[in-house]
Amino acid sequence: MITAPGLAPVGYTGLGLDRGGDQRADPSWVAGLAADPRAVVRPLWRDQCLTAGEPPVPLVVPAERVDPEDLVFLGSGDGVPTFAADLSDLSRDEALERVGADGTADIRALFAGLPAGEAATLAYARGLLFWHRRQRFCGCCGSAAERRNAGHLRVCTNPDCGTLLFPRIEPAVITLVETATEPRRCLLARHRASKLGGYSMLAGFVEIGESLEDAVHREILEEVGVPLRTVGYVGSQPWPFPAGIMIGFRATAADESVSVDGTEILEARWFTRGELRDYAESTGRLGRPDSIDRAMLTAWLAEGEETP
Ligand SMILES: [Zn+2]
Repeated sequence: MITAPGLAPVGYTGLGLDRGGDQRADPSWVAGLAADPRAVVRPLWRDQCLTAGEPPVPLVVPAERVDPEDLVFLGSGDGVPTFAADLSDLSRDEALERVGADGTADIRALFAGLPAGEAATLAYARGLLFWHRRQRFCGCCGSAAERRNAGHLRVCTNPDCGTLLFPRIEPAVITLVETATEPRRCLLARHRASKLGGYSMLAGFVEIGESLEDAVHREILEEVGVPLRTVGYVGSQPWPFPAGIMIGFRATAADESVSVDGTEILEARWFTRGELRDYAESTGRLGRPDSIDRAMLTAWLAEGEETP
């Protein structure tokens, strides 16, 4: 697994599949993989994993259980071609019966029990299948768009248009802002939209016409009124819930006074490493368990192991 320097492995990374990017445009190559008796399918239903057992385990079924037309190629690992299939057009009961499942569950709810490669495969499947459901028609002329390249491209069926539609990824920046002076403190905020509550790092989508660094400067200024002195890249994480990638940065503040926007951000405050350790210990929280903010905050704490 490839990880950013100083950062523990981040959730949904470490796929371990060869995506066959240079071969998947060849329909006969893809058909050969689908017909391989070892081929397996990850079935999903309306963004949920189909599961069996208690505790629930995401199902892997032989490729022959699914119509080849519905298969989207994810990649091959250890000689096993792996596909995803979207059963969202069926009712929940029909989907369960089709693959012998007894339940459905969100990938993020299953995350704690999943090996890294498994979580990465399921998140990848979920993101790709979501895109297919939202890209049934061409945005240029409104004609139907059909699946190509084993599910990694859609093409407008209007011969006068023929627009190529590639899976869409929406980048977002997430930033650990720290003071420029010792002892270093980091800035965390309470977000109005947070389901978990508590403090987390500042994040936001990149807008058209911005560099990633521009987006970091703008988001931090908008949300907490803090101008930045330096911004540096740390690492990234696929976040296909439904279509994101999180790009992590460390920044130092040029001014430590905080002024929250009151709409997205309810409150923001500076934490010393000791205060953050106490907060994590008393609440059991240090960012989302499956997200890059947990890895970034953990790395920041580890850098100052002896610092109060
Ligand atoms: Zn078109």
